[in-house]
Amino acid sequence: LVSVTDVEKHFGDFHALKNINLTIREREVVVVIGPSGSGKSTLCRTINRLETITSGEITIDGKELPAEGAALAQLRSDVGMVFQAFNLFAHKTILENVTLGPIKVRGLSKAEADTQAMALLERVGVAPQADKYPAQLSGGQQQRVAIARALAMKPKVMLFDEPTSALDPEMINEVLDVMVGLAEEGMTMVVVTHEMGFARKAAHRVVFMADGEIVEVAEPEEFFNNPQTPRAQDFLSKLL
Ligand code: ATP
Ligand code: MG
Repeated sequence: LVSVTDVEKHFGDFHALKNINLTIREREVVVVIGPSGSGKSTLCRTINRLETITSGEITIDGKELPAEGAALAQLRSDVGMVFQAFNLFAHKTILENVTLGPIKVRGLSKAEADTQAMALLERVGVAPQADKYPAQLSGGQQQRVAIARALAMKPKVMLFDEPTSALDPEMINEVLDVMVGLAEEGMTMVVVTHEMGFARKAAHRVVFMADGEIVEVAEPEEFFNNPQTPRAQDFLSKLL
């Protein structure tokens, strides 16, 4: 579904992504882990074209990423993204946050968008908060709204960049539970996270990055029990 081939990314002199090759199959859940600065966020951002690439190719559904215009807007709705910071619109209600994209980009009527949004808010457990504003919700609730908002665009793939790392510990699981549910329903997902419990439970493959490179790719049990490279061994020993 997502194919990343020979991708290089430079920020000026800095080589942020080095020869990245990665194919994400439909319904696959890929967890990306690695030290700070290893290029995990940059990789996510190149997949929905928030960041350009220096060379190489990224395709979604066999189509190369568009540079701009209507095709780029379509790509953005095919690729849902959830960030560490919840990025909700502060002056819109929870319901409006979820209906805005579908009305503007997918051309739904307000009534259609409201019905769909309420179903999604129900699913992530924040339907009672629909008429409140983001600041009136806990961090975990806001992040679940952010997930609902991304799902409202009917994406083909969801990218999560450390979705729980800004949350208080007691709220982490409520967000991870929603993500595990999505994975079980067969959503294609790329998840940057330090939550190894999620990786063990939901990931089909773990991608370990260091210094802008993919160093290791393995099934979770294999990766956690038997990391092959010194860099992965060192990283895991610091986590445990
Ligand atoms: P973290 O775990 O801290 O989120 P990360 O693996 O997500 O780290 P990236 O954010 O992808 O790392 O950054 C990779 C490297 O690229 C870092 O050294 C960062 O300083 C650099 N970098 C990222 N964005 C830019 C930019 N816009 N301009 C210059 N350098 C950048
Ligand atoms: Mg990052």
